[in-house]
Amino acid sequence: MKRVLLLGGTGDALIIARRLGPAHVYSLAGLGRVPGDLTCGVRVGGFGGASGLAAFVREQDIGLMIDATHPYAAQMSRNACEASALTGVPCWAIRRAAWQPQAGDDWRDATGWSDVIERIALYRRVLWTLGREPLAHLDEIPPSQHWTIRCLDAHPGNARATVIGARGPFSLEGERAFFSAHRFDVVVSKNSGGSATEAKLAVARELRVPVVILLRPVLPAATREFDKTAAALQALAQWLDPDQLLTKESV
Ligand code: NAP
Repeated sequence: MKRVLLLGGTGDALIIARRLGPAHVYSLAGLGRVPGDLTCGVRVGGFGGASGLAAFVREQDIGLMIDATHPYAAQMSRNACEASALTGVPCWAIRRAAWQPQAGDDWRDATGWSDVIERIALYRRVLWTLGREPLAHLDEIPPSQHWTIRCLDAHPGNARATVIGARGPFSLEGERAFFSAHRFDVVVSKNSGGSATEAKLAVARELRVPVVILLRPVLPAATREFDKTAAALQALAQWLDPDQLLTKESV
């Protein structure tokens, strides 16, 4: 029986996981919510690098890996490609297209943490949408700034930082209300691509608020790459025995 190991943590991954039967394994880092309603097996936590992943692939007789992690989860993507080379098991990847600036956008690229800090130095009310990373820097916030950090988990913050636990998708109306309540004068974002967290960019454009974009990491070439989940599912339906991919109606 053909077995798939799906590396997840994104909405794209969950769409695929919902189509996988009990022979297959969905793997999560364990940072976010673990869905309890899947038909496939679910495992949580790291493998112990590329060699640990390769060992798992061999032990579990996995025939195909699908890397559907976040575009910024570069370590996991590298491990998956390396494990593929070690085992000979193909690794397909969903490489979501990046957002592109539109007329009216004021985007400033940043290559890493210190670059981001430099680019926001002149602003007072900063919205962070990078995930947890700013939480490690709460003691470094300059007196001239207030940070609002939106990430998966709530956190007490401090006098200069408000931490909001929230998970997408975020609507345009919701983002308009959020920006209007906090009066941000700069936004910090990854270039995640996809629609779930894109509305903040539209609101920043409307309000002429600059967006500091942390550039994407370079990812290794996978055996096959897809920019859309639907295309990956189509290829998966061909790779699997016909009865192994659950129909939409059965999930
Ligand atoms: P990472 O830096 O690429 O991964 C670090 C380690 O976490 C990996 O080496 C692996 O540990 C473990 N890991 C990651 N994804 C895993 C999975 N699906 N199954 C099992 N283990 C996994 O990625 P990250 O730490 O998850 O996130 C990096 C950035 O991407 C962060 O900014 C985060 O907010 C963002 N992000 C990631 C995801 C995601 O899909 N992972 C989702 C949303 C946002 P071992 O080496 O021990 O195997």
